[in-house]
Amino acid sequence: MDNYQQLITDLRRTFGTGKTRSLSWRRSQLEGIVKMVDENRDEIVAAMKEDLSKPKSETILMEVIQVRNDAIQHLNNLDKWLEREKISKSIELIMDNVYIQRDPLGVVLIMGAWNYPFQLALMPAVGAIAAGNCVVLKPSEVSPATAFVVEKLCRKYLDNDTFQIVQGGVTETTALLSERFDMIFYTGSTSVGRIVATAAAKHLTPVILELGGKSPCYVCPSSDLNISARRIVWGRFCNTGQTCIAPDYILCPSEIQPELVRQLKKALVAFFGDDPQHCESFGRIVNKRNFDRIKRLIDDAPSDKIVVGGKTDVESRFIAPTIIQNATADMLCMQEEIFGPVLPILTVKDEDAAIDFINSREKPLALYVFTKKSSIKEKFLNQTSSGSTCVNDTIMQAGISGLPFGGVGESGCGAYHGKFTLETFCHRKGVLEKKQGMEKLNDIRYPPYTDKKLKF
Ligand code: NAD
Repeated sequence: MDNYQQLITDLRRTFGTGKTRSLSWRRSQLEGIVKMVDENRDEIVAAMKEDLSKPKSETILMEVIQVRNDAIQHLNNLDKWLEREKISKSIELIMDNVYIQRDPLGVVLIMGAWNYPFQLALMPAVGAIAAGNCVVLKPSEVSPATAFVVEKLCRKYLDNDTFQIVQGGVTETTALLSERFDMIFYTGSTSVGRIVATAAAKHLTPVILELGGKSPCYVCPSSDLNISARRIVWGRFCNTGQTCIAPDYILCPSEIQPELVRQLKKALVAFFGDDPQHCESFGRIVNKRNFDRIKRLIDDAPSDKIVVGGKTDVESRFIAPTIIQNATADMLCMQEEIFGPVLPILTVKDEDAAIDFINSREKPLALYVFTKKSSIKEKFLNQTSSGSTCVNDTIMQAGISGLPFGGVGESGCGAYHGKFTLETFCHRKGVLEKKQGMEKLNDIRYPPYTDKKLKF
């Protein structure tokens, strides 16, 4: 194992020189990320093909372009976002300057996840660099080909005195977490999130936790079931279901379940054909551990409830898109986040029962509601809590850079994307710059204290 203490000491020394504070340095690094993406698309696509059999379109649209756009947005807005922010002030401060200055935090640790291994490593890095920090990036060891490419490209395109990569699994992560950072940005499971937060607490290090959970999806009888089904199927089954904000399960009134299942099947065939195992647009489960975990969820379901899919192939880590109807809360697939191509449907009386069901569980990372009724939409918006909510679509909220992306409660804390990424990696320093004149005005606060001074 490497000497992380030395690595962090070196980064801290570089940070101390002020190098990363210069706007021209920040710009050069962000330009480096844009160049990295533009010059190495094929290699990035190939790495994710190797790790996840990820289709090229998904890599380009959901990883490469996201990173590129975010870097360009930070580049275009760097001056504006880092400008000292003047705040309104009271009359006695009229001669003075009062503002917020956004300072870098220092040396930050970013830990990526394997399901979107390029995006989840590089998008936080964009904000960390734009904010003027030094970075230790640990890509996920679960997607080794992408981790290798990320390291190779970051070494080539970024300043190695300020940006370091650490590779490894639990042992290396545990060792890294014993070191002191100025911030830790972690993406992954809630259980490891707890380990990260506990380790960080020892040094009073702030953490951003981008975690997971079961994101519900309510389908209302008023919605267009054909369109709803297409959008749900895409959100659930893209990246082979390994998406943190994928709709994890459907809640719907029993009277629409048969038609909804019919429309879901139709959408599945339209997207992946009759044989998803031989469809280029459908990937594979990342490793045997996750394959076994998801297969267990399918095997636990009574076979008469599996209305689509159910087929698995351990050799190629293939799991067919699977739909389980009339699922119940006590089934294994409802006890943990699925994070795979399986979609249970639970029937509920109406939207109020769906809201009660959702509120009786941990706060989800995302919540989806399909409805044409404004009153139902409002109920979900006002009576539930989730990291994000999307009405009549799935996942698309994550692609809007003006929206904060993050969880709440068990699904995480803190947020990023667009300007929020820069904000996340800054300390907002409150500054009061007083003039030295008009000292008489300060008499009221100086001793000796007298009642006379309080008469104003
Ligand atoms: P994980 O938390 O199991 O593993 C993440 C990393 O943590 C591993 O790469 C490993 O290096 C480290 N790790 C694992 N066990 C550890 C331990 N005991 N001590 C120290 N370090 C340890 O998560 P995962 O399987 O990579 O990801 C799946 C989860 O991540 C899902 O819940 C998913 O919803 C969530 N996720 C969330 C987002 C988001 O943006 N909110 C994105 C992707 C994934």
